[in-house]
Amino acid sequence: MRPLEVEHIGGELAIRWDDGAEDFILLEKLRRACPCAGCKGEVDILGNLYKNPDKPFATNSFELARIISVGGYALQPVWADGHNTGIFSFDYLRRVATAK
Ligand SMILES: [Zn+2]
Repeated sequence: MRPLEVEHIGGELAIRWDDGAEDFILLEKLRRACPCAGCKGEVDILGNLYKNPDKPFATNSFELARIISVGGYALQPVWADGHNTGIFSFDYLRRVATAK
């Protein structure tokens, strides 16, 4: 499954998938779901989670500067506050989109 079209519309990311589904993801929800090690922490081989304390978001943390497509399997949002280390695989993106 992969997105055919990704569009940044106002405060949302609109995605049209190749199975015909369409999702609108609030940018705030997308940012909060950032899967990078800095946001989500890293799990070691014994299952211990190492995570930085939550940093407060800035006012522009939920603004999307641009979005980069990564190797045909993921999207990498560049946020207006400079954060850009989160790589959202298409599967993960779909899960974020459909999560309540
Ligand atoms: Zn992150």
